[in-house]
Amino acid sequence: MTGGSRGIGAAVALRLAEEGADVALTYREGEAPARKVVERIEGLGRRALAVRADSAEPVALDAAVARTVEVLGRLDILVNNAGVFLVGPLEQLGPVEIDATLAVNVRAPFQLAQAAARHMTDGGRIISIGSNIAERAPFPGLALYSMSKTALVGLTKGLARELGPRGITVNLVHPGPTDTDANPADGPNAEAIAGLTALGRYADPAEIAATVAHLASPDGRYVTGAVVSVDGGFSA
Ligand code: NDP
Repeated sequence: MTGGSRGIGAAVALRLAEEGADVALTYREGEAPARKVVERIEGLGRRALAVRADSAEPVALDAAVARTVEVLGRLDILVNNAGVFLVGPLEQLGPVEIDATLAVNVRAPFQLAQAAARHMTDGGRIISIGSNIAERAPFPGLALYSMSKTALVGLTKGLARELGPRGITVNLVHPGPTDTDANPADGPNAEAIAGLTALGRYADPAEIAATVAHLASPDGRYVTGAVVSVDGGFSA
C-alpha cells in the first residue's frame, strides 16, 4: 500500500495486519513513523516492510512493487492511499501544482493497479482512497484536488470491468473529514468541516480502515466497481 506511515494509511496497514495480511507500505519522507508501523505490524505476528517511494516517481513505484513481491513473495491486495492535497484559488494553481497532484493522486494508482494486476491471482483486491470532496466540494479552492479524486471513479469502474473476469475486485473508498496530520480534528476550520457531516464529527482513521478491511476480506468478494462513502453523511 502507498502512504502507510501515518494517518489513514497507517490505520489501514495495521488493520489489514490484524486481519492476517503481511504488509508492504511506502512512505515519502518519514522513515521513523514508517518503521514504527512496521514494528507494530511485526508485534501482531505478521511480516512488514517499509519502502521509501515517492508516488510521484514511476521508477520508485516499480521498484517498490518489485521489492514487495521479492520480500513477501506475493501481492494480493493493493491499497492506493498516498495523496496530494493542494488547494487554492484557480489562478494560484499552475502547471507545477497540477502535475504534482495528478502524478500522485491519479497516475500512481493507475500505474500500481497495472503492476499489481500482473502479480495478483484470482481473488485479488485493488482499493483506492478517494475523497468526500469528489462527491461534494463545499468551499472554493478545491477544484484541482476534487478533479484528481474524481478521476479515481473512472479508474475504479473501468478496472472492475477489466479485472472482473479474473476475480479481482476494484473499489474506491471516499473518506469524510478524518483526524490526521493532513486534516487535524482540532485544526482552524475543523468545527465548520465537522458541521458539514450528518454525524457532526471527524472520523478516526480506524473507521476508514474498517471499510477497507471489509472490501479486502473474503466477505467483500461481490463488491466491485463501487464507490463507498465513509464520510459521516458529508455527502448526504
Ligand atoms: P496524512 O498526511 O496524514 O498521511 C499521508 C501518508 O502518505 C503518509 O504516510 C505520507 O508519508 C504518505 N505520502 C504522502 N505523500 C506521498 C508520496 N508522494 N509518496 C508516497 N507516500 C506519500 O494523510 P491522510 O491520512 O489524511 O490522507 C490519506 C489519503 O486519504 C489521501 O489520499 C487523502 O487525499 C485522503 N483523504 C483524507 C481525508 C482527511 O480528512 N484526512 C479526507 C478525504 C480523503 P510521509 O510521512 O513520508 O510524508
